[in-house]
Amino acid sequence: MPYSPVIGLEIHCQLATRTKLFCGCEIEVNTEPNKHVCPVCLGLPGALPVPNKEALNLAIKLGLALNCEIDSRALWTRKNYFYPDLPKGYQITQTGGIPIYDHPVCKKGHIEIISANGEKKRIGITRIHMEEDAGKLVHDFSPGSSHFDANRCGTPLCEIVTEPDIRNPEDAVLVLEKIKQILEYTGVSNANLENGNMRCDGNISLRKSEDAPFGTRAEIKNLNSFSNLQKALEAEIALQTQTLDKGGEVEQCTKRFDANYNRTTVIRSKEDSHDYKYFPEPDMLRLFIEQSQVESIRQNMPELPDSRRNRYMQSFGLSEYDAQVLTADKGISDWFDLATKTCKNSKILANWITSELMRELKEMEGGMQALKFKPQDLAQMVNLIENNTISGKIGKTVFAEMLTTGKDPDTIIKEKGLVQITDTSAIEAIVRKVIEANQSQWQEFKGGKAQLRGFFVGQIMKNSGGKANPGVVNKLLDEI
Ligand code: ADP
Ligand code: MG
Ligand code: ZN
Repeated sequence: MPYSPVIGLEIHCQLATRTKLFCGCEIEVNTEPNKHVCPVCLGLPGALPVPNKEALNLAIKLGLALNCEIDSRALWTRKNYFYPDLPKGYQITQTGGIPIYDHPVCKKGHIEIISANGEKKRIGITRIHMEEDAGKLVHDFSPGSSHFDANRCGTPLCEIVTEPDIRNPEDAVLVLEKIKQILEYTGVSNANLENGNMRCDGNISLRKSEDAPFGTRAEIKNLNSFSNLQKALEAEIALQTQTLDKGGEVEQCTKRFDANYNRTTVIRSKEDSHDYKYFPEPDMLRLFIEQSQVESIRQNMPELPDSRRNRYMQSFGLSEYDAQVLTADKGISDWFDLATKTCKNSKILANWITSELMRELKEMEGGMQALKFKPQDLAQMVNLIENNTISGKIGKTVFAEMLTTGKDPDTIIKEKGLVQITDTSAIEAIVRKVIEANQSQWQEFKGGKAQLRGFFVGQIMKNSGGKANPGVVNKLLDEI
């Protein structure tokens, strides 16, 4: 029988700082192992951490963007565990296990998503806390031995925890997309799922109906793409449904998703927070966050995806759906904004981007960065269609040429002789020629068979090499 899913996400993202969270070591990926290390991030005895102000500012910025309250007395805690990639034997974080130790820098926020059916849903953000990342073990380059790279030790992370407000896997993907967008718009993180500087854990349980109490959850770790998040949740729903249908009970556990077999498997039964023996970090004071610091970050907040979407609807008359599609990727949206500066019709411009350009970008290696022409060029092409220099159909030819050569539309039109014919007498000559060649259809058309209009317009356009102005063609057909 079908059950109602309840889903909550935990999202880790790497903060886009130049240096680590508690020392001055630089953050650089894909470099020589153990290049950026010091006594603090190696966890040598006696070395003392100093919090990175820029990292804190980014965490506050993220909190404000997710509509959170900022805790002006956030507390650093120690989460103790042994693992070979963690030389200190503990991680400095802002979770506490028990309420008096639990003062993350941000809490009680929310975001909004628009479901596929257009319904708006509010998803609560429980908390955002800061913490340091561990190092990396490398197992694969000399058989029988493992290697340790400490470059990542002490890299600043934020963990965003949502309320269990999500009700299906599709919405979970929308939540992750929305948070990724906000991370990009604010510049808080590069938010790249593929290279691991953003990671997502999905928590999911089932219950009999929408008003029944929550069931027991499974936590699926480290989902590294939108499609894996969706597939993992779907696989887990199928599995828990089977268990419940058989009268069994779901056990709380930590799982991973195996994309090759499309199934979730247990890594461990759920650890309890007391296993980590949390206590307040003795090497550090509480954070003292001034209200003025928070206000200055609020004042300097860049435009966020929701307000940009609204701006597109109000200023350019776009539908909510089109505005949503255009703002989904900050790179594309910034590009559109630049193009609108010189474009006479931003709505038509938006159509070209959401249909033609986005379709091409999907196929194109390197995406936006690899695009050969400039925003002003597409704006100019739309202007040329608007002022009837070229037809929409010729526009497609020009656009294809812009894509491959990067030339601007005026040059392409001149080189290829694509200027639209608006000279009535020149078009009339073609119209008469086509009528002459298709006398029987012409008699039927005159006799009232209106469907034949398309045939004539098509023939005339073809004869003019696509360059006749369709408005003039139709007018002449009527007159004749
Ligand atoms: P932990 O560290 O034990 O995973 P957190 O509080 O960090 O605990 O995260 C718990 C996550 O699980 C949150 O995203 C929350 O929304 C979600 N969650 C809590 N209870 C349920 C439930 N019954 N079903 C599904 N998700 C749940
Ligand atoms: Mg968790
Ligand atoms: Zn260091």
